[in-house]
Amino acid sequence: MTPGLELALRLGIAATIFALLALWELAAPRRKLSVGRLKRWPGNIGIVVVNVVLVRLLVPTAAVGAALYAAGEGIGLLHWLQLRLTFAFLIGFLALDFAIWAQHVAFHKIPILWRLHSMHHADLDIDATTGLRFHPFEILISLAIKIGVILAVGVPPVAVIFFEVVLNATSMFNHTNARMPYWLDRALRLIVVTPDMHRVHHSIVRRETDSNFGFNLPWWDWLFGTYRRDPEAGHDGMTIGIPQFRDPGESRLDRLLTQPFRKDREHRQPPS
Ligand SMILES: [Zn+2]
Ligand SMILES: [Zn+2]
Repeated sequence: MTPGLELALRLGIAATIFALLALWELAAPRRKLSVGRLKRWPGNIGIVVVNVVLVRLLVPTAAVGAALYAAGEGIGLLHWLQLRLTFAFLIGFLALDFAIWAQHVAFHKIPILWRLHSMHHADLDIDATTGLRFHPFEILISLAIKIGVILAVGVPPVAVIFFEVVLNATSMFNHTNARMPYWLDRALRLIVVTPDMHRVHHSIVRRETDSNFGFNLPWWDWLFGTYRRDPEAGHDGMTIGIPQFRDPGESRLDRLLTQPFRKDREHRQPPS
């Protein structure tokens, strides 16, 4: 498959899932939006365009290229062990998901990384577009970590492609502002991070922000004791965002891109 066709396919899948989730949000909204789409979507979608173009220009082969290289040269644990593809696929997928979880925790705990990641949290509402709103520098650091994991573990290329497509879809899904029956949310939470579970992570209350770091599999938060079922103020009463950057004007693309470089005091975290 040519890189152009691969990119077109991935964008096509992402756009289709996004359209379905956006329709679901319109049909059955979970919370009333405080700022709304018109003010937020141009910036949030602008960031996606910047990120897609930047990654293609700077790292055209990206993660799949690293996986193909590792497979060709026999680099990484799973290639040395010569496991069957099914096992290598499963272990590779789990390793990537755990790495993304651990990286998310690091982006909260290390001040310089928090500056980049807080742009994701500064969104005053959350919906499917928030799931793609990450600072380009966070995207590049994340890609470098992912390539490191792929080379060390020897994740098969097919697992990398599957993981990236799934993570993109689940990230949009778990930010969706759509209602689903309580029983369905509880059942889905056993295997995937649901919108109600991830919304807790977007609470303005610091100890709630410091929970539910998963984007895809919910198990790491259970294992490491960072799982929180609901926000204390309830899903309708909770405030979304961080104490800094509460002006809706901050939703503009240029403001989003410059947020990490503002003065120190604007980034100070309240105590947890
Ligand atoms: Zn976060
Ligand atoms: Zn989020």
